[in-house]
Order: sequence, then C-alpha cells, then structure tokens
Amino acid sequence: MQPQLIFLGAPGSGKGTQATRLIKECGYQHLSTGDLLRKEVKEASELGKRVTAIMNAGKLVDDNTVLELLKKNTDLASGAYIFDGFPRNGDQAKLLDEVVLKGSNSKAVYFEIDLDLLFDRLVNRRTCGKCGEIYNLKFKAPAQAGVCDKCGSTELNQRKDDVAETVKHRLDVFKETIEPVLKHYESEGRLVRLDASNGSDEVFSSLKSLI
Ligand SMILES: [Zn+2]
Repeated sequence: MQPQLIFLGAPGSGKGTQATRLIKECGYQHLSTGDLLRKEVKEASELGKRVTAIMNAGKLVDDNTVLELLKKNTDLASGAYIFDGFPRNGDQAKLLDEVVLKGSNSKAVYFEIDLDLLFDRLVNRRTCGKCGEIYNLKFKAPAQAGVCDKCGSTELNQRKDDVAETVKHRLDVFKETIEPVLKHYESEGRLVRLDASNGSDEVFSSLKSLI
C-alpha cells in the first residue's frame, strides 16, 4: 500500500507540478483543500452551505470544517492521497493525524528551496492568457519578448498573486508557520526533505523512490 503523502512547500516550490505527475503516473488522488471547498460550495451540499455562510460572514473556514471536508473526501483504506494546502501550522498537523490519518502509513514531503530564489521565480512568472503556457522572464523567457512560443499570443500576464509585495507577504507567512509543522513530522520520523531547486525530473524520481 502506497503511503499517504502530505505535501509541504512554499508557493512556487513546484509541489503542484509534482502532485500532477504522481496522480498521472502513480495513481494518487489530489486533496487540495481549496478545490474541495469550492466543489462543496458549488454542489451546495450541507457542508458547502455552511462554508458559504462562513465566507459570506467574512470569516476564514475553521479547522474542524476543513477536517470534516477531508474526511468526507477520503477513503484511506483503499486510496492513496496527496494532502495539499493543509496543514499550514503545528496545530493543524496534530489535528490531521488525530482526525483523518489516525496512524495510517503517511509521510510528509517538504519541497525545500531557498526563499530568495523562490521570490525571483515568482515575481518573474508570466502566464499566456490564451493557451496557459507558463514562462519565467529570468529562467524560461519566451523566444521573442512578450510573445507566447506556443500560440503566438501577446497576452503574457502576471498573476495578481505574483506581484512583488504580495509574494513577499506570502513567503513571510510561510516562513513563520512552517517550522512547527516540520518539527511535528520530524519528531515522529515522518519527514522527508526534497531539494526543490533541482530540476522537475530529478525531484520526481526522488519522490517516486519514497512510495
Ligand atoms: Zn500561448
């Protein structure tokens, strides 16, 4: 039985790309709390209605609701999952163990990367508005400035999330909250650190050797 995987990493560390490959090549299922919340809201399930009310009140969705959401969408006896976006702090890590994982075989994978390097990656990221191809002005620039290599569109956009000030804030928050999460898994011998500054293929083969 493949281990349940808890993905940890700063925004832009490449964990999303790795998740996509694990799902495609190794039969994993993705549990993105953001996506699950949107799904429940859209389906207007009982849980979804509660989430809508919380969000309409301008509040953050509380841990118990997220845990309930995860429980509802997992069957750990038969499936292998990637937990992504939860836990974000030490308390949530403990709760996830107690309420959802309950001693099942699981590993936390930390996509470790220098945060200054990450800042550079994120603020230089551009996405083609037409075909979705992703560029980086510093590391993977289009052949002709401002033109998509794939479809020729001149609509290379910067995501609102990737503006310098926002990126800095996201990375600061990440830095503050990740340490206790890492400690939680490390103390139980369940933490694996992967060097996320390596190429995507290299990271993926280290990942595959874990499962
Ligand atoms: Zn394009």
